[in-house]
Amino acid sequence: MKSKSEKTEQILQNFTKLHGKFEHGHLPHYLSLGAGVQSSTLALMYATGELSPMPEAAIFADTQAEPQSVYDYLDWLESVVPFPVHRVTKGSLTEASLTQKVTKDGRKYSQANIPFWTKNVDGTLGKIPHRSCTADYKIKPIHKKLRELVPVKRGEKNVVCVSIIGISLDEMRRMKPSRDAWNVHRWPLIEKRLRRQQCVEWMISKGYPKPPRSACVYCPYHDSKSWRQLQLEEPEEFARAVQFEKDIQAAKENSDNIKAQVFLHRSCKPLDSIDFRSDVERGQQTFWDDECEGMCGV
Ligand code: SF4
Repeated sequence: MKSKSEKTEQILQNFTKLHGKFEHGHLPHYLSLGAGVQSSTLALMYATGELSPMPEAAIFADTQAEPQSVYDYLDWLESVVPFPVHRVTKGSLTEASLTQKVTKDGRKYSQANIPFWTKNVDGTLGKIPHRSCTADYKIKPIHKKLRELVPVKRGEKNVVCVSIIGISLDEMRRMKPSRDAWNVHRWPLIEKRLRRQQCVEWMISKGYPKPPRSACVYCPYHDSKSWRQLQLEEPEEFARAVQFEKDIQAAKENSDNIKAQVFLHRSCKPLDSIDFRSDVERGQQTFWDDECEGMCGV
């Protein structure tokens, strides 16, 4: 029977057979920066010469809904890396999701689809809305900036640049090849067979501050551990998420594209009614839930 690491190698071999090797060192590299653990590790590994070639630039897509700790960390990161960091935005995800639009036939809807947990009127769990926030507020703005920076000619058929993406070995199922003929994706942490925890250890060994978890404050992909962390370490941001849940529930009540009640936590209970303390905090014996894998796409 194959060991876990043998299986991992097999999956990676199959992936490279399908999508080609991760070698495009002669082309300009651009880092998709989320300012979380993995992409920040990459930024600093390039900055210290541990990885090459040096990126031309990093691009950070701002949903305008990250906790303040992410913006503070990004300011610091930008001050220590030798390449420019471009911040791009489609606007406020919060505003877009709370703003109702009306179709010609009078149906009310909101365009920004966040993957809320939903509860039907009969109390059963509802369908999670199709997620468009990652594509619209993160992937597309980065893509647009990349086209402008390279620059990419209309109808370009040759590979002209490389996007560097911070996915670690423990998240390798998130690797997706580029959809554009002119761009290839590269995952240096996978090439180095590094897991998220090893990235954290690398940062600590270099004396760098540990990056915060990068995600919108109200992202429904937060697990209980992340909610508790936010509640303890950034209470004002947790309060922002609580308020957003109330606001979005009010907005969705009048909307025609989601009939069920929406929630930010998978239990479909109001955020401010949930006891997020771990069993250890409550004096019991087991530990935190598994860490959430539902981070955003970049
Ligand atoms: S972090 Fe969550 S809410 Fe924000 S864009 Fe990504 S999936 Fe959507």
